[in-house]
Amino acid sequence: MIIQLEKKVSDQQKQHILDVVKSIHYKATEVSTQFGKYLVCIGKQDFDIRLIGSLTGVRDVHRVSDSYKLVSRKWKVNYSSIDLGDGVIIGGDELSVMAGPCSIENEDQVQKIVTHLKENNIRIMRGGVFKPRSSPYAFRGLGIDGLKMFSSICRENGIKIITEVMQVSQIREMHDYVDVFQVGARNSQNFNLLDSLGEIDKPVLIKRGMSGTIDELLQSAEYIFSAGNEKLMLCERGIRTFETAYRNTFDINAIQVLKDKTHLPVIADPSHGVGIRDYVSKIALASAVAGADGVIYEVHEVPEEAASDGQQTLNFEESKFLCKQLEALKKLVL
Ligand code: PEP
Ligand code: MN
Repeated sequence: MIIQLEKKVSDQQKQHILDVVKSIHYKATEVSTQFGKYLVCIGKQDFDIRLIGSLTGVRDVHRVSDSYKLVSRKWKVNYSSIDLGDGVIIGGDELSVMAGPCSIENEDQVQKIVTHLKENNIRIMRGGVFKPRSSPYAFRGLGIDGLKMFSSICRENGIKIITEVMQVSQIREMHDYVDVFQVGARNSQNFNLLDSLGEIDKPVLIKRGMSGTIDELLQSAEYIFSAGNEKLMLCERGIRTFETAYRNTFDINAIQVLKDKTHLPVIADPSHGVGIRDYVSKIALASAVAGADGVIYEVHEVPEEAASDGQQTLNFEESKFLCKQLEALKKLVL
């Protein structure tokens, strides 16, 4: 059960609500976010919901049978959207495009990609400075200095930044230079990181774990929301299966399932989802048809020379064509 509290609920009123919750043998967790105050109550006993609904200080009360609560659509049927400022909105009637290299490499690379994004009306640039790599000897990113450079070029050009945070200690130093924190597939169940991202007021995109179920992704999102941050979006980026013909199995079903189960925006990552450059654009288009609120893909001036993931990275020509197709598709599916 989710109890939405009135914004101006007094401590005394709240204590009374908590006492009533306790009397029906439910365990309450208090949640306070940018947008509201909630009591998430877990219990089994049947009771008359009017017992709670009639209490002073209660704005609304909802029964939510899912294992995740605040991210469920069972209490919030209308979809959420996230405002990044300057007219950049994710969710709602938008089909957002986020594009950029796998890794931020140098100023020249960022500048060229920013120019490409502006030419194609893309408002959000991706790019990792802390890179989770399978081999410790692979390029692991430029770190915080790279982020500062990335951010300063993007800010000058009105482009928002999404970049991956790998550990709790990085949040503070990255904070002022980031518009959306990305939680990578490998950290999808790093609960300490999720808790800490719940304590900040910056949007978070959380990716599905490589072997994570949809339910696990939603529960991970619940960590962030319940720690206080509602500015959340989910990302399908493919899962590891027995198939070896491509990097990951992009789970197109997940998009529709997520749109049904959660009010959070759903973003598709076809680059990591399929892992082969020739297939990326079609999977991106398929995701939009399947109901994604946006796509995030990798682009580089010369993918063959990219420091990481060149094999799944579009060049400018391919990216431009994809943007045109997405634009055309938007009119059909939105
Ligand atoms: C990335 O987006 O660069 C990345 C590492 O993705 P994932 O976490 O999905 O592997
Ligand atoms: Mn990558």
